[in-house]
Parts: sequence; C-alpha cells; structure tokens
Amino acid sequence: MAILDQGPLNYKEQLPPIILENYGKWRYHENPKPGILKHVSESGAELYSVRVGSPRLVSIDFIREICELADEFCDGYLRFTARHNVEFLVSDPAKLEPLMAKLAEKGLPVGGTGASVSNIVHTQGWVHCHTPATDSSGVVKAIMDELYDYFVTMELPAPVKISLACCLNMCGAAHCSDIAVVGVHRTPPRIDHEKIRKGTEIPSLVASCPTGAIRPNPKEKSVIVNEAKCMYCGNCYTMAPGMEIIDPENDGIAILVGGKVANARSNPMFSRMVIPFLPNNPPRWPEVTSAIRNIIETYKAHARKGEKLGEWIERIGWERFFTLTGIEFNEKLIDDFIFSRETFRTSAAFKY
Ligand code: SF4
Ligand code: SF4
Repeated sequence: MAILDQGPLNYKEQLPPIILENYGKWRYHENPKPGILKHVSESGAELYSVRVGSPRLVSIDFIREICELADEFCDGYLRFTARHNVEFLVSDPAKLEPLMAKLAEKGLPVGGTGASVSNIVHTQGWVHCHTPATDSSGVVKAIMDELYDYFVTMELPAPVKISLACCLNMCGAAHCSDIAVVGVHRTPPRIDHEKIRKGTEIPSLVASCPTGAIRPNPKEKSVIVNEAKCMYCGNCYTMAPGMEIIDPENDGIAILVGGKVANARSNPMFSRMVIPFLPNNPPRWPEVTSAIRNIIETYKAHARKGEKLGEWIERIGWERFFTLTGIEFNEKLIDDFIFSRETFRTSAAFKY
C-alpha cells in the first residue's frame, strides 16, 4: 500500500501502553486534589493525569522543558487538553509526588479540574490575526494571574469556563462559556477605494457581509457601506485589505456570561452580554480583570453547590444578577438591532 503523507496518525499508535491495554475498560475517575485526576480500570490499573496550566502560544524552550518532565516521570507521555493545559500521564503512583515537587519547583501551576476556573480558551489576538478588537494572549495572561487562586483550588460552586474571542467572528467559540470576553469594534470599516480597485473581487466582498450592508459603488469602481446596517464584525476586512476596521480609540471588550455547552441538569445556553464595553488597557487590562473577579466572587458567594453560573442567574433572575454584582444595566444591553435574524428581510441579492 502506498504510504500517504496526508492526515494524522491513527491515534491508537500514540496512546500510552496503559491506556491501550485498558482501552474501553476504564470504570471511573476521581479528583483527589486540584489538578489531579485518578482513573481506575476494571483490571485494577490506575492512571493519574496531572493538569498544568499553560499558555496557548508556547516557546520551543517550554516544549523541551515539559518533554523532559514527561521523559523523567511519565515514560515520555503527555497530552494537551482542548483548553491549552498540559496533562502529564503518570502510570507509576510512586512518581506522582516527585512530579508534583518538580512542577512546584519550576513554578508550573497544577489545577483547573472540578469546581475551579479552568484554563482560558482563546483566539489569536494581536500576535497573529488582522481583525482583532483586542489582544488574546495578553488579556488572558492578565485574567489568569488575577484568578490564579481559583485555578489551583476547587472552591467555586461548579466549574467555571472562561473563553476569549478577539472579534465578533468568535473563532474561539466564546458564545457558550460561563464567562466570555469578546473584542468589539464600534466603528464601521474605513474604505480605501484605491486598495479595493487594485486587489479585491467586489462580488465576494459584497457577499461577505452578514447583514448586507455593502453594495457596489460603480462610480468609484469600489463599494459603499450602509453604516446603519453595519454591526462592526470585520468580516469584510478579511475579504479586502481596503476595508480596515481596527480603531485604537474605539475598540475594546464586551463581557458576556451564563453560557454552557453541557446538557447536564439543564439545556445548553448561550452567553448574554452584561458589560457592553471596557477599554483596551494593556498590558494588564485592569478594568477587565476586576470585572471578571467581581462576577466570580458574587457567584461564589450566592450560588448553590453544583450550580453553573448561568443556572444560578436563571434561578435568581437577571435583574437580581445586576443588583448583586453592581453592574450597571444600560440601553446597550438591549438587542434592538433591526437587522437581526428575526427581522432581517434582506440578503446581499434580494429585499423581500
Ligand atoms: Fe481573528 Fe476574530 Fe478569530 Fe480574533 S476572533 S483571531 S480577530 S477572526
Ligand atoms: Fe460591517 Fe461586518 Fe458588513 Fe463589514 S462585514 S460592513 S464590518 S457588518
């Protein structure tokens, strides 16, 4: 058979031997300490996974460091979780405490399991994308430094998942998180006709706008934007470098809360906006970090054990949520966008 170079390896080739031997036979797991999960198989085999918080963008030095730890304590096996944690897979219980001591010595935080704040899943930010209204890695680092105590303990009513997307395109899927941090633009794209004439397919640009705000401008051989219809998503800038939307003065962050993906106990829920705008204030974003701490501490003080943040708000009512947190309710939180899905009767091609 021809050897092909497309696609990943069969995942079973990469499993640690203990997982392969007990495949489909794991009976239960426990969470004895923050960051440690103990998995027990029908055969009696035990595997410990040790979860370590990691940035999403890591250096080669960091990768070498964790690989050396995996070689020393885990027969060379580790994995990355969907929320950018490193998990060391320890099959020899005698190596668990020495690994923990080594991680503490290196200042690598162990936690993020159970009723804790887990690592933040986020998008590319100023490092890599062209439409962000805020940074990703920088904001996330500032938030997790602020919430460090909630990562290394399990003292919250239930797990809290925080996500960040640096623009409305939300390639970080922030819309179903307990707390979502979303970069928002507040001004329409600025059209550079010369750039559009030189390098943009006008039909593709018109079609890229989700609200049909862009139409051809034959006089300029370019386009025109109906600003009342623009929701500042930046999608057109992805199609056309001549539609720049980044605006240092007006870009910032909105906070949404109450989403959940799981259907345990209650249905999945979308997050809802509770703070429409906070300024970009690098390098530590103090307004954002203190707003999130306030939401978490109010939730911790009032929610029942096992109740997710959104479930708690649904139980007490959104009015009470605003009263307890002291967050101001203002008109920007009311969805009155007349071109939203329910009322939108226009496409790029038709009005009906
Ligand atoms: Fe780019 Fe938006 Fe994704 Fe951020 S959320 S990386 S700005 S597409
Ligand atoms: Fe506005 Fe987004 Fe349409 Fe561009 S694609 S005009 S930013 S709504």
